[in-house]
Formats: sequence, structure tokens, C-alpha cells
Amino acid sequence: MKNFLWLNHSFNSFLRQIVERAMQRINLSHFRKKALQYRPVFRRFLTRLEKNPPIGLNKLAAEADRNLWKDIDCLSCANCCKTMSPTYSATDIRRISHFLGIKQKEFIKKWLIKDLDGDWINKSLPCQFLDLKTNKCSVYEVRPKDCAGFPHHNKRPMVEYMDTFKQNIELCPATFKMVQSMKTSLESGVGSRESAF
Ligand code: SF4
Ligand code: SF4
Repeated sequence: MKNFLWLNHSFNSFLRQIVERAMQRINLSHFRKKALQYRPVFRRFLTRLEKNPPIGLNKLAAEADRNLWKDIDCLSCANCCKTMSPTYSATDIRRISHFLGIKQKEFIKKWLIKDLDGDWINKSLPCQFLDLKTNKCSVYEVRPKDCAGFPHHNKRPMVEYMDTFKQNIELCPATFKMVQSMKTSLESGVGSRESAF
């Protein structure tokens, strides 16, 4: 039993190493340069999709999304948590305060402000719950619903979320890759898994 467990453990760790090696570590400074360069082209592409959505757009987006996560390693990035704030619903605030063992009022006073739309957002960035050494979220199990759904690639119908993607192509390497892959597929009929950063 002991040996089996050890073999099982080493096999799992071997598999994990293979998966980690296959994933791209994200170089954020390289990504920012690339995003700046491609932003106008990708935005125009998304505007075209918005005005004239092709048949099967949702399916194409789903496929691009499914493929990109084989390469993207969010723990080497965390750019969303560093550069954007989630919105916190009343339920999020209740759940996270309870998890942290503090009162909701205290939670709000310490970390949140209301934005122009009246939504609760972080007072400062990077997010106070991000561990900058590991890029891990310290409230991951109870994180805001907005964080759990990010980068919102599965929102439907996709055509109604083009503004979100237009904004996120320069902030989220995963969204950049999804748009890049969809553009390549639609324009050449061939899917792209080429490295973007
Ligand atoms: S969701 Fe996007 S921005 Fe956030 S960590 Fe993953 S790749 Fe980076
Ligand atoms: S709550 Fe967690 S997942 Fe959400 S922005 Fe903060 S660190 Fe990132």
C-alpha cells in the first residue's frame, strides 16, 4: 500500500510537471507590448462581429476558449487582480466577511468604495486579497462572483459582451488569445494556437 501510494504520488507529480511545462508562463511586459500593437486590429474585428455576427459565433468562441486554457497559466499572470477591481454584490460582501470573521461594515470600510454606477469595488489595486508572491487569491473559495466568472468568455449571447472583450484584450492574455484565435479561424478557416506572448 505504501509503495503504491508513493508510485501514485510520483506519477501524479510527473504528470503535473508535464502539464506545467506545456503551459505558457505569461510574460506580462511582452504581453502589454503585443496587446498595444494588436489592440486597434482586434477592436475593429470585434466591432465587425458585433455588427454582423457570423453563424456559429458562440460555438467558435466556446472552442477558442476551451483550447486556450491548455496554454494559459493564470498563476503566472494575475493581471486581472492587479489591474481591475471586481464588483462586490451584497451576497459577496456577506460571504467574504463571514469567511474572514469580520463584520460587513468593517469589510466595506476597510477595503471598498462605490464607483460611479453605485457598485462596490476595491479602494485600491492590486486587490487586497491577492498574494503578490504566489499570485494566489487568499479568499479563492469565497471570491466575488465577478471574479469566478472572469474573463466572461462563456457569457451568451457573446455578441452582447463585445465591449467587455474590447476592454480586456489589453488586460487579459486569455481574452487576447481567444480573440486572436477566433480572428484567425474566421479569416483563414484555420484555428490558431500560435504563441501570443
Ligand atoms: S484570467 Fe486573464 S488576466 Fe486573469 S490571470 Fe488569467 S490570463 Fe491573467
Ligand atoms: S478577490 Fe481574489 S480573484 Fe478577485 S480580484 Fe481579488 S485576488 Fe483576484
